[in-house]
Amino acid sequence: MSAADAASLDCSTDPGVLTTENAIFAMSKHHNCSPQCVTLRRAMDTLSTEFVEVDVERDSRLEAELTENLRWLSLVSPEILAR
Ligand SMILES: [Zn+2]
Repeated sequence: MSAADAASLDCSTDPGVLTTENAIFAMSKHHNCSPQCVTLRRAMDTLSTEFVEVDVERDSRLEAELTENLRWLSLVSPEILAR
């Protein structure tokens, strides 16, 4: 799935497993949606899983990427960081 595809996902179609990048694109489009939005739920699942894995692995490259993602996410969707 391209980033453009991820950004054009609608609220009622399950996009399946997303990459981190696609999840962020999806989140940017759907962060104001209700909890019933399947795309938003997929994106949040993807990102919260990614955070856990990075925390365990302590990979420096992923950490740098995560820091950037978190900085960006804190702008568009602060509530995910409270999970
Ligand atoms: Zn939505």
